[in-house]
Amino acid sequence: MSCQTATVRPAVTQRPAPGTASDVVLDLQEVTKIYPGRPPVPGLRGVSVSVAAGELVAVLGPSGSGKTTLLHLAGTLDLPTAGTVRVTGLDVATLGDRQLAGLRASSIGFVFQLFFLAEHQLVIDNVADGLLYAGVGLAQRRELAAAALDLVGLGRRLRARPTQLSGGERQRVAIARAIAGQPAIVLADEPTGNLDQATGAAILDLLGQLNATAGTTIVVVTHDEQVATRMRRQVRMLDGRIVSDTAADAVSARPAAPGERIAGRPGPPQRVTR
Ligand code: ADP
Ligand code: MG
Repeated sequence: MSCQTATVRPAVTQRPAPGTASDVVLDLQEVTKIYPGRPPVPGLRGVSVSVAAGELVAVLGPSGSGKTTLLHLAGTLDLPTAGTVRVTGLDVATLGDRQLAGLRASSIGFVFQLFFLAEHQLVIDNVADGLLYAGVGLAQRRELAAAALDLVGLGRRLRARPTQLSGGERQRVAIARAIAGQPAIVLADEPTGNLDQATGAAILDLLGQLNATAGTTIVVVTHDEQVATRMRRQVRMLDGRIVSDTAADAVSARPAAPGERIAGRPGPPQRVTR
């Protein structure tokens, strides 16, 4: 497998000062996605939404409302039919395939419902391999992987195999893989969909803690209304549209997690306690 060097600067140097206009890491304007077919299927019908560095956003909505389409476009896994998608200020329509791959490698971390771990590989290698396209050498990949696994509370399971882990632990590995390269934004598509209620809630709490302590910008699609309403911002979708986008005073409405920085702005990474 060839190791392409990212053509985009690492996210960690791209992170602008909070409160500035370039603070926006994700920006969709009038985005429409029509899937080809007979008849064509609308996935998104004119969606505009911006996410600033350090935000934690829950995306809610019934099946088929366009949540995954939104995340795929935000993650540059797919391109819009119309409208503009900007990631870390870059208009994805102006980038070629290699540049898009570079942007994804340096700026975006993905977490999926089904974890997508390589079962035959050690936990640490699952995470380190996520950095293959970020242009860093093996020793540094392992170092970053170990640090990320420590952050998600799996510092002692580096040499385990995914098959030896519970579902919740596997999703923690996937989250470590998503954050290891310190991306500008983490996109999680139903990360709790394959977990029981309590484990799923713990995973959402972990994402909340990573946001609060490390300032990681996170957009998470979740069905868990209860947990979502504890997040600072909720975007509700229906039929390919955003029907509400509320940045409630959830910060003051809920108890702070241990060590949480209430402002939700980047701070030094801290280990998340389990
Ligand atoms: P959600 O994640 O909220 O369940 P999706 O974004 O997956 O919603 O789907 C939104 C709409 O787009 C649905 O009508 C779905 O059937 C359609 N859709 C999603 N992906 C495709 C695809 N690859 N081809 C055709 N239609 C699709
Ligand atoms: Mg979906």
